[in-house]
Amino acid sequence: MKLTVLVDNNTYIDQYYWGEPGLCIYMEDGGRKILLDTGYSEIFMHNAELMNIDLSALTDIVFSHGHNDHTRGLTFFWKTQDLHDMLLTAHPDVFLPKEHDGLEIGAPFTAEEAEKHMKLRLSREPVKLSDHLTWLGEIPRTVPFENNIGIGRYRRSNAWYPDDLIDDTALVYEGKDGLFIITGCSHSGICNIIAYAEKLFAKPVTGVIGGFHLMQKDTRLTQTVKYLKEHVQGTCYPCHCVCLAAKHEMMNELPVVEVATGMKMEIL
Ligand SMILES: [Zn+2]
Ligand SMILES: [Zn+2]
Repeated sequence: MKLTVLVDNNTYIDQYYWGEPGLCIYMEDGGRKILLDTGYSEIFMHNAELMNIDLSALTDIVFSHGHNDHTRGLTFFWKTQDLHDMLLTAHPDVFLPKEHDGLEIGAPFTAEEAEKHMKLRLSREPVKLSDHLTWLGEIPRTVPFENNIGIGRYRRSNAWYPDDLIDDTALVYEGKDGLFIITGCSHSGICNIIAYAEKLFAKPVTGVIGGFHLMQKDTRLTQTVKYLKEHVQGTCYPCHCVCLAAKHEMMNELPVVEVATGMKMEIL
């Protein structure tokens, strides 16, 4: 499976791709060409062009969750291209209005609007995207120190509720030696995601790339790093929503590689 980071908060020196506080990862597996999230703006299209990635050949777009730093870019994409042959996979709650500290942070479109432009597949269950890639759907919250890590609130039927991001999910690639996990923001908990992948596939985790949503130095960070050390046999690639202190604590305990827009990797 070939993977390219099309958008991340970070950029590499001397590589003139654009960065923004958002995430978009392009993957090829077998005949499928899959985009996990679309970042906040149109820059994923700009970067793809610079990297000679033809986004008109995409077969799938999948959302990790509804926040606009992962979904808003899609509105620029469907203004410039016909996406009717592409399949959009998302949890049904991805489209709920969301806010935090008075700011709208949800997807800037409804499921009905998305369906005008693309084929829409809503699911709470895991969905197989290609021979080896699975979108996990709803993540069970089983790891005790990750049972209360929501953010902001969401609106359903004109009432607002605390948002525990039940729409948050990740992808799993079944590789030669085990599972490689690709996350968006891990609002559902990076350890909950790993635990669910291990349960579904009964194989060890060999690596994780994406946002881990570790934004401060606290006891949860220490517990998370311990969990990663015990459950990830290979390298961690934390990006997007992982602070420097969290990366530092991780680097003291396990192999960590820096991620930025333009990063390419091949996972066997
Ligand atoms: Zn988010
Ligand atoms: Zn995010």
